[in-house]
Amino acid sequence: MPLEIHKFPTGEMQANCFLLVDLSTNSAVLVDPGDRSEKIQNFISTYDFKVTHILLTHAHFDHIFGCGFFKSLFPSAKLLVHPNEIPIWTANNEFALKFGVKTPEDYITQPDGTFIDGEIIQIGQSNLEVVLTPGHTPGSVCFLDKEEKIAVTGDTLCGQGIGRTDFPGGNAQQMRDSITKLKNILENEYVIYPGHGGSARSGRAVRVAEKMI
Ligand SMILES: [Zn+2]
Repeated sequence: MPLEIHKFPTGEMQANCFLLVDLSTNSAVLVDPGDRSEKIQNFISTYDFKVTHILLTHAHFDHIFGCGFFKSLFPSAKLLVHPNEIPIWTANNEFALKFGVKTPEDYITQPDGTFIDGEIIQIGQSNLEVVLTPGHTPGSVCFLDKEEKIAVTGDTLCGQGIGRTDFPGGNAQQMRDSITKLKNILENEYVIYPGHGGSARSGRAVRVAEKMI
């Protein structure tokens, strides 16, 4: 049964929050809730989706400032990130201020747990695989549904190329290695769902990325 994907740009930076729904069980995960959103809340309650996880492609503020809001709505949903993101998470207050964004009052200061490269996260009867792709940040990951050939790519790979590598913890060489890793896994066949902007074919996105690195 395919995963249904719903995109909600949120917050000042319009980072994409994705709701992935396993249609066979109505189980759902939220990826990168960048801000509180009644629109997402209403959508979930309308269809009575069961949110089991809140997953983060990385811990920049524009992808996580909605975690407090959604954890209060879905307290049993596990909030998970790669452990390399903890320093990025800790530095968020300062980082957000550089962009003129204030930390929300319900800011969550740590995740419920972490995942590792290659880990499979089950959503109902669907599987999401964690693929570690550092470069934008040290613990940036992509989430892949290998059956449906869907990849949620955060700020690593988007339709217009790659995310910035000049923020704290960024690393251009690691980004080059991550794009090569993604090229080999995704080949031409995936649809990518990036952290900003629209979805794209993986082949084209990788070709654009390779010109930038
Ligand atoms: Zn980012």
